[in-house]
Order: sequence, then structure tokens, then C-alpha cells
Amino acid sequence: MQFLYGSGEAAALSYQAFFGLANYIISMASDRAVGHDLRSVVMSPGSTLDAPIFEPCGDKPLAVVLDIDETAVLNLGFEADAASGVPYDQARWDAWERTGGGDVTAVPGALDMVKAAKAENVAVVFNSNRSTVNADKTAAMLAGLGFAPVVHGDTLWLQGDAASTGSGKDARRWAIAKKYCVIAMAGDQLGDFTDLFNASAQAFEARRASVGGRYTSVLWGHGWFILPNPVYGSALKGAMGEVFPLDKRWTPPAAGSPATTAPAPEIKEK
Ligand SMILES: [Mg+2]
Repeated sequence: MQFLYGSGEAAALSYQAFFGLANYIISMASDRAVGHDLRSVVMSPGSTLDAPIFEPCGDKPLAVVLDIDETAVLNLGFEADAASGVPYDQARWDAWERTGGGDVTAVPGALDMVKAAKAENVAVVFNSNRSTVNADKTAAMLAGLGFAPVVHGDTLWLQGDAASTGSGKDARRWAIAKKYCVIAMAGDQLGDFTDLFNASAQAFEARRASVGGRYTSVLWGHGWFILPNPVYGSALKGAMGEVFPLDKRWTPPAAGSPATTAPAPEIKEK
């Protein structure tokens, strides 16, 4: 909580992601302007992580797809209570969507990126698991921060839209990619890029390894832009033996052994 909502380090990471994205937008818009063919960075139906399909864009208008929570928006009002120990509750989150729109801030750098996108005539499209029932409140919250225009069904896609089910976002990504050439995506969870990362059959180690595959590794910072979130979500799992493999366990040398009695190297500071 201190890191994400309070630290300069997290703000700097966010600027790094969004300025990288802004530069990428300018680069892709320039490619379009000189007649180069572009491809979507949305993995199409039938893709696997080892054999992705990225469709040609034709002359579709350009767009970037953004997650909302802890990507474009910091939910300060809601998370302050969570930091105080109030457990997550779906009804409470629903009330937050309806009435908390004034108690948020934009993620550092997000509005700078939006400005760059507008200058290049690139649409900003939100794909979120917030509820469709609260679409007008979410649109108003985003507009209040400076993310307008936000139009449900065009630049705002929510849980249940495009016959999407559960927390999966692929169905909505595919619907967005039918209308727009999605040149970039940003999110704080792997599911903001493809649902394939969250396949239930994927073991803990395999999930971590899957972001570094032949086709996935090259997309980070080059079409896919990830924001920090150490507070909640799909990243926060793994047993002790999974996070810290047994073959990398270390124990300090016994007292009196050469390793602990050797003189410390001299450190000169000028
Ligand atoms: Mg999020």
C-alpha cells in the first residue's frame, strides 16, 4: 500500500510505463502515416502463447486499450479502508463504483499519455471488469479525471459486454479489435493482455515463465505496457516452496568459519 499509493518509486514506474507508451503511440502513428501496415497487439481467437495470431489492421482507426483500476485510476478512497484492515467485499466495491468517483486520482503519467494519443488521433479505449450496471458512474469518474470522451460500448467496455464471462477480458478485446487497430495495451494484471496467462491448467512456475516466451517477452514495452500493483490481484499467490525454490535456499556459514572471520573489504568513498 505504501509503495503503490505513496511512494515516488511507484510513481516513477508509472511514468516510465506511460511515457514509453506515449512514445510507442507516436511511433505507430508515424508508421501509419507513411503507409506501413500495422498489426493488432491483441491475440486473436485460436492463439496460444507459443503460437499467437496478431491480425493485420487494414485501415481501422488506431486505439490503445487501457485497464481502469490501478492502471488509469488509483482507488485511494476504497484502498484506504482496505489498508486499515477492512476486508474486500463485493457489495462494498459496487457501492464504491457508484459513489466513490470523487475519491480517486489518475495514475501518474496516464493523462500525459492520453494527451499524446489525442495529438496522434489515437482513441483511448477502456476494458474493465467494473459492472455494466454502473457504466454511467464509471464514465463520469473517468471524465472527471480528464479521460473523456468515455462512451460505453465504444471507448468503455465492462464486465458482461460482448458476451464476456467472469473476469476474462478476451471477448471484449476481440470486440474492440473488430472496430479498432489496437496498437498497444496497458494494465496492472497479466489478464489485461491475454486470458491465456490465467489458464487454470497453468502451474505457478509456468505462469511466471510464460511472460518471457519467444512471442510474449518482446511485447513488454513494445505494444504491451505493465503498471505496478503489489496490492491485490492475480500476482499475489504462490506457496513458499514455489516462490523460493528449494535448490536456491541459503543458510549462513557457522560462526567462526573463514567466511565470517575474513576482514571486510575497505570501502573508500569520495
Ligand atoms: Mg487493474
